[in-house]
Amino acid sequence: MTDTIFGKITRGEIPSDFLFEDDHCVVIRDINPQAPTHVLIIPRKPIPRLVDSDPDDQALLGHLLLVAGRVAEDLGVGDAFRLIINNGEGGGQTVFHLHLHILAGRDMTEGQLSADLN
Ligand code: AMP
Repeated sequence: MTDTIFGKITRGEIPSDFLFEDDHCVVIRDINPQAPTHVLIIPRKPIPRLVDSDPDDQALLGHLLLVAGRVAEDLGVGDAFRLIINNGEGGGQTVFHLHLHILAGRDMTEGQLSADLN
């Protein structure tokens, strides 16, 4: 499996500020934010794409959603945020290590979903 920058970040090989971390995931700010609040929830397990996850990952995937909600609350955007997973090149994915985007702090009620991260 090819390593990615997120593998290096989750293993601590590239120094990063973790907004949150536990045994299963880390949370960092996106280097190229598409909204005033734009953070990434990255599992330590290097699953390339969402579709590469399997039933053994069920608890992990649920955990990532719980962390997303908690981090959004901690960042003060718990009432208005968007959670995005890009899957595959055609879905806008550029880093092939599963991650969730939290976007918040701007109007999320208008425009196409696809415009968010392209
Ligand atoms: P995606 O297009 O869904 O694969 O998202 C990848 C995201 O990772 C993009 O929003 C990038 O801006 C972000 N990104 C890439 N490298 C880094 C990095 N070193 N630290 C933080 N965010 C990064």
